[in-house]
Amino acid sequence: MKIAVLPGDGIGPEIVAQAVKVMSALRGDGLKIEMEYAHLGGAGYDAAGDPFPAATEQLTKESDAVLLGAVGGYQYDNLPRPMRPEQGLLRIRKGLGLFANLRPAMVYPELVNASSLKPELVSGLDIMILRELTGDIYFGQPRGIRTLESGERQGFDTMHYSESEIRRVAHVGFQSAMKRGKKLCSVDKANVLDTSMFWREIVTAVGQEYPQVELSHMYVDNAAMQLVRAPKQFDVILTGNIFGDILSDEASMLTGSIGMLPSASLDANNKGLYEPCHGSAPDIAGKDIANPLATILSVAMMMRYTFARVDVAQRIEAAVRKTLQQGLRTGDIYEAGTQKVGCAAMGDAVVKSL
Ligand code: NAD
Repeated sequence: MKIAVLPGDGIGPEIVAQAVKVMSALRGDGLKIEMEYAHLGGAGYDAAGDPFPAATEQLTKESDAVLLGAVGGYQYDNLPRPMRPEQGLLRIRKGLGLFANLRPAMVYPELVNASSLKPELVSGLDIMILRELTGDIYFGQPRGIRTLESGERQGFDTMHYSESEIRRVAHVGFQSAMKRGKKLCSVDKANVLDTSMFWREIVTAVGQEYPQVELSHMYVDNAAMQLVRAPKQFDVILTGNIFGDILSDEASMLTGSIGMLPSASLDANNKGLYEPCHGSAPDIAGKDIANPLATILSVAMMMRYTFARVDVAQRIEAAVRKTLQQGLRTGDIYEAGTQKVGCAAMGDAVVKSL
């Protein structure tokens, strides 16, 4: 298992260090894990003048999987766009052909009170959001700011999806649903957008190959509402890049803390980039208070999706559960009666539970 480790910026190095502890413990137990570090984002800009340095690109291409912390920081906010940390993220996703972003939103029984929704709405919640990651308005050309004939300036972007892009992510969606509750809800804005009408047509066609999966369609505005009204109605939600960006953050909050949520971004051969759903949290960086569990759970996803080691994935997930059952909490998930610990202590506790 050759793993490229990219700590990135902000809390990235702190949380990744905890995931590395877990991988080192697994290696001690006989898994053949090789780890090599490289820079991404602001760290790439600082080290090599590029948010996705050539050395990082080379390493990630040669690796089976990539573990990323997060990128971004105030000090990079005024750089020209190509030098911004997020560009490193967009380029690595595009460069590795990572078109399928899987984000589970699960509520642990121990954390049911951390959700802003009533416990009965979220207890037992287990949904998977599948977001297409390399197309849509985030990559469409032309884009820019132009001056119209009237002399007024105008910002513009282009939304498009090709049939092959929709087909391949739809297959991932139906296959995920087959492994779970066999329900897939495709989210679009087909009442307004032609791109969405086409999306709906292709997803419906792919669905005919998966007769066991119950396919439904929902407009994105309704989906945003249903996610806070009755989130347990969903099993797998399949959607495009921009809608998925927003809905997956919304879904993450159902679980109480963004610090608990892992993600996987996969290519056509299950090579993947694994990272927590949250950002680099510059407001708490360097204080040893960040929650490392999303990053540790990202390693579990890596074991499940890239290395097909469901046993190892379950072992990591069980260790996280056990640690929560012991009452240990980082600040973001702390409640009275539990024990507040820092980032490193949480990592140590998970290794002990493992
Ligand atoms: P954020 O996710 O970094 O932080 C939002 C809030 O959640 C903050 O209050 C933060 O302290 C808290 N938080 C996040 N992760 C936490 C954790 N593990 N433990 C405890 N608390 C946690 O989002 P933001 O503030 O909008 O963005 C900060 C930077 O991160 C920006 O530069 C942004 O571009 C970048 N970003 C990067 C990614 C990524 O690398 N994938 C994703 C989103 C944002």
